[in-house]
Amino acid sequence: VRDIVVVGASLAGLRAAESLRRHGHDGTITIVGAEPHEPYDRPPLSKQVLAGTKEAGDVFLGVDPALEAELALSTRAEALDINRRRLTLRGGDELHFDGLVLATGARPRTLPGLSGSHLEGVHLLRTIDDCLRLRAELDGGPRVTVVGAGFIGSEVASTCHRRGLDVTVIEALPVPLERAVGPEMGAVCGRLHTDNGVRLLLGVGVVGLRGSRRVEEVVLENGSSVPADVVVIGVGVAPETDWLAGSGLDLSDGVVCDAWCRALSSGRPVEGVVAAGDVSRWDHPAFGGHIRVEHWTNAVEQGDHAAAVLLAGEEAGRFAPVPYFWSDQYGTKIQFVGRAVPGDEMTVVEGAVGERRWVAAYGHEGRLTAALSFNWPVRIMAYRRMIEEGAEYPPPPAVFPTAPAHEGTER
Ligand SMILES: Cc1cc2nc3c(=O)[nH]c(=O)nc-3n(C[C@H](O)[C@H](O)[C@H](O)COP(=O)(O)OP(=O)(O)OC[C@H]3O[C@@H](n4cnc5c(N)ncnc54)[C@H](O)[C@@H]3O)c2cc1C
Repeated sequence: VRDIVVVGASLAGLRAAESLRRHGHDGTITIVGAEPHEPYDRPPLSKQVLAGTKEAGDVFLGVDPALEAELALSTRAEALDINRRRLTLRGGDELHFDGLVLATGARPRTLPGLSGSHLEGVHLLRTIDDCLRLRAELDGGPRVTVVGAGFIGSEVASTCHRRGLDVTVIEALPVPLERAVGPEMGAVCGRLHTDNGVRLLLGVGVVGLRGSRRVEEVVLENGSSVPADVVVIGVGVAPETDWLAGSGLDLSDGVVCDAWCRALSSGRPVEGVVAAGDVSRWDHPAFGGHIRVEHWTNAVEQGDHAAAVLLAGEEAGRFAPVPYFWSDQYGTKIQFVGRAVPGDEMTVVEGAVGERRWVAAYGHEGRLTAALSFNWPVRIMAYRRMIEEGAEYPPPPAVFPTAPAHEGTER
């Protein structure tokens, strides 16, 4: 493997490039990125940058010159030929590779058939440019409506509330975040909005946005409407795979990979092609099937691992992390490790809901599968390790010291 191309100049792509050098790759590395910017961190876009406490310049990840990677920015890859081992770039140029890392991430979904989504004042949030456009509008003190009470929508609501704005959140499901954290804890997360004076409308879909040039109101399926000067649509993301149509790679809600992060074609690994980050749906050895994880830590760890596989093959091992994510809302750090599925048991094992900090454990057939915490960064990492080690559910009381754990600043 001499010439390696990484498609996607963001978190997973940059971590893959760093890992290639760390593992001794001394050939070329070219990082192709559609955005005009060097790789940057997205989590602050719904938090500090939107709040105005960080500037855009504060979130760049930094490309170490020692990487000797060529960065091709504002350059979109438009097609992949796995037989000829070539990428076609926008404009028609072709790029040869011996090894390829697919790290094109995800883009925000919109609501299908939503009328009025072209109106001024309607926003999606994925890029630094999206964030700055939205932030500029918040300076005028608008009434903000957030469509979708997922993690990013909830963080936008929290940040707008912190900026003193009038905020409404509309969620089509009866319980926010139910799929991620289960019904009881989804309701607990939803209460963060209402406890802070943010209106939360549940179990009602949005059918349209109305206004003449700018958005003026959000129309709900029950016929009522919510006045709004700014609307942020936060209804999840879709993996960036359209450009790979016709490449022969298996695509199904992401680039389908085996347990080593190798991209598959007709179910077989393609030599020298791996995928990492939000775009990858890989066969997780511990979860009995393919999963796609849309979180920061996974992009870091999978970028690192996929690059190692590119150089060392199966010797690099299967990619089997316990997923982890965090979210910051209304001064509360929410953290989740593992993977909960409908039907899992759940019990609060440390602290109590209603107290400032607590941990809830999830289990299935006597095994610990996941844990959720509020404001307890150090403890949650102990649960990540326990899940990795195959701990029982419910975890034995002995593992819970009653003395409060030292609170760190771990992400
Ligand atoms: C506002 C926001 C807040 C977040 N907060 C959190 C958080 O609190 N906690 C957490 O765990 N996670 C959070 N995340 C998720 C986290 O940022 C993502 O999981 C992470 O960015 C994924 O990295 P990635 O490199 O896989 O993809 P991305 O960061 O999406 O990068 C993919 C890159 O590929 C480029 N690209 C796409 N197609 C092409 C192409 N054809 N050719 C060339 N380039 C292409 C894109 O332009 C993009 O720059 C947040 C995300 C957002 C948007």
